[in-house]
Amino acid sequence: MPAQIIDGKQIAKAMREEIREEALRLTAAGHQPGLGVVLVGEDPASQSYVSAKEKACEEAGLYSDDNRLPADVSEADLIAVVERLNADERIHGILVQLPLPAHINEGRILLAIDPDKDVDGFHPMNVGKMLIGEKAFIPCTPHGVVQLLVRSGITIAGSHVVVVGRSNIVGKPVAALLARKHEHGNATVTLCHTGTKDIGSFTRQADIVIVAAGRPNTLTADMIREGAVVIDVGVNRVTDETRKRGYRLAGDVDYEPILEKASFVTPVPGGVGPMTITMLLFNTLESARMRAESHA
Ligand code: NAP
Repeated sequence: MPAQIIDGKQIAKAMREEIREEALRLTAAGHQPGLGVVLVGEDPASQSYVSAKEKACEEAGLYSDDNRLPADVSEADLIAVVERLNADERIHGILVQLPLPAHINEGRILLAIDPDKDVDGFHPMNVGKMLIGEKAFIPCTPHGVVQLLVRSGITIAGSHVVVVGRSNIVGKPVAALLARKHEHGNATVTLCHTGTKDIGSFTRQADIVIVAAGRPNTLTADMIREGAVVIDVGVNRVTDETRKRGYRLAGDVDYEPILEKASFVTPVPGGVGPMTITMLLFNTLESARMRAESHA
């Protein structure tokens, strides 16, 4: 029997409705959640991500403060924008779209964001808190992956999860989250990367495989066991002359054959992607809720 397709769009839609309801409640109480967005330069992919985030904010009833800066903005001017957003009471979350131009030190910019407004969860304070099990903003894509598993009724606790990819924004945090002693954790986690010998020997033992490598066909059907859950985080442009734009989007897994063997699979697009923005809204709402409670 082919795998059940995890419909990220549908799960994201349901979560965004929940977020909107809570945002309206907070707004009525005088605490409308607000997101400050900073985009540097004209990179088309970054522009389209930022536009999608702004549109999602508006639909969910969040206030958004958009800051578009030229590609040659100085680091000092960029930090000044972040500091203005840090000080602005209407703002509960700050998002600086990455990557930044080469002349700007990304680490310094992330450090300038108030950790209490770091809704991307990239500030070392939040990364550290997440690792030691304290309340923290959890990075959006890993958080979205956990929500997809939980809301699809997949058992995480006691499962063997194999993660392929160890980036700071996806692989490492998703591995850390699923290994936590937590109701949505308690898995046994193996983390694979380009230094791993024979990745298939690990993925074949997995109940859940999460692939975030940024390379098509990193996971093929012979690398999973019958009935495994496969979460595909990858987004790749693959040449396709039959499409008007000359390419199509593909994930990191060999989708059709894996569909025949797995129990659950996320599609690309329409799987993990829609969850990332949703979790950004969720974190901003959480931040506003915490601020409202501290003022109560
Ligand atoms: P990244 O920073 O390039 O990291 C890729 C990781 O995968 C690295 O740790 C690398 O290992 C590992 N890797 C690459 N090729 C491999 C292979 N053949 N075998 C084993 N490991 C391999 O990428 P990222 O930012 O984590 O993103 C990963 C993918 O997810 C990309 O396609 C990206 O576009 C996508 N993504 C999607 C969303 C979403 O919302 N859907 C969000 C973020 C990212 P080394 O460390 O050894 O180099």
